Amino acid sequence: MRVNENILISSLTTMRLGGPARYVLEVTSPQEVADAYGFAEQFRLRTFPLGYGANTLGHDEGFNGAIIINRMQGIADDFTADGARLKVMGGEYWDNVVAHACEKGLTGIEALSKIPGLAGSAPVQNIGAYGQQLSDTLESVDVYDTASRTFRTLTKENLHFDYRQSIFNTTERGRYFIISITLKLTPGEMPRPFYNSLERYIDDHSVTDFSPQSIRQIVSAIRDTKLPDPLKVASAGSFFHNIYISDEEAEKAIEKGYPMHRGKDGNKISAAWLIEQAGFKGKLLHGIRVSDKAPLVLINESAKSYNDLEKAREEIVGHVYDKFGWWLEQEPVELQ
Ligand SMILES: Cc1cc2nc3c(=O)[nH]c(=O)nc-3n(C[C@H](O)[C@H](O)[C@H](O)COP(=O)(O)OP(=O)(O)OC[C@H]3O[C@@H](n4cnc5c(N)ncnc54)[C@H](O)[C@@H]3O)c2cc1C
Repeated sequence: MRVNENILISSLTTMRLGGPARYVLEVTSPQEVADAYGFAEQFRLRTFPLGYGANTLGHDEGFNGAIIINRMQGIADDFTADGARLKVMGGEYWDNVVAHACEKGLTGIEALSKIPGLAGSAPVQNIGAYGQQLSDTLESVDVYDTASRTFRTLTKENLHFDYRQSIFNTTERGRYFIISITLKLTPGEMPRPFYNSLERYIDDHSVTDFSPQSIRQIVSAIRDTKLPDPLKVASAGSFFHNIYISDEEAEKAIEKGYPMHRGKDGNKISAAWLIEQAGFKGKLLHGIRVSDKAPLVLINESAKSYNDLEKAREEIVGHVYDKFGWWLEQEPVELQ
């Protein structure tokens, strides 16, 4: 286990905010995971598992505890009669997993191309994009259980997946350290109809190849036009959740002329639309820019502190509530 001291959280997170973490422990084997939690217990330190930091916000005062980062990498394929099982170590960069699956002609995660982060973080908020979500193909997760101090395998049924949700960010937050994930993928193509923006791109560019490789290229091209590259621009991606409402509320919203997406996952009001309608698209608030291409994305252009982000967030959430009566909920996790 590699032990680092006094590391700025701003250097570990894509929003690039946050003071020093007392310890950052990098683990390269399951035994080192147990050792890292043992170390934290010995010195009575709080712990926080961190991946690439693309969905995590650091605070100005830092973290007086131990951040634990999974550095175990590797993808093992097991081909079966009806597809393949991919066992992926949690420290593997997620987009490498998608690239690997697409190269093998396997469908199931191609629409999740270019989502920044590590594979071990992907189940936490059940990553999703362009009509696919991790829970569609995830079979199980190998974890270290800090409550029983044992290594366990949790199957999908135990993980209670929902929109941007699992037990890891709700009922069992902080209990498990994810070591690896296992996906079940199949050869072939993603079924149509595709997500709206994918269909539009396919029409506009007269695409006829729907193989995983081709969908990966299309998704990457669409993302490049809208979403910031975390290596160049500081952001945490979508800053707020979309809003899911009941059928009754949906009828009222339609009467008011609000755009509604009625999908298999429920009635969705686009949070980006609410932010745009509240007049924030492209605006700079306390050093935080509301993206003019994707208003759900907040970019840290010149914010000096977490406090600046907090002020910007409060303005946006408050105005959207005053105008529409819905509270926007934050997506990124607070490192505290
Ligand atoms: C430009 C941009 C675009 C994005 N686009 C999308 C998108 O299209 N769809 C989408 O769903 N998300 C998107 N995101 C959000 C982000 O990419 C995902 O949430 C991703 O899974 C975060 O991975 P990470 O390794 O950076 O997680 P981190 O931010 O490091 O951690 C996220 C959470 O996972 C927990 N965690 C991390 N590692 C472990 C572990 N080993 N065991 C247990 N818990 C752990 C952390 O404690 C934290 O709660 C985007 C972000 C950015 C910056």
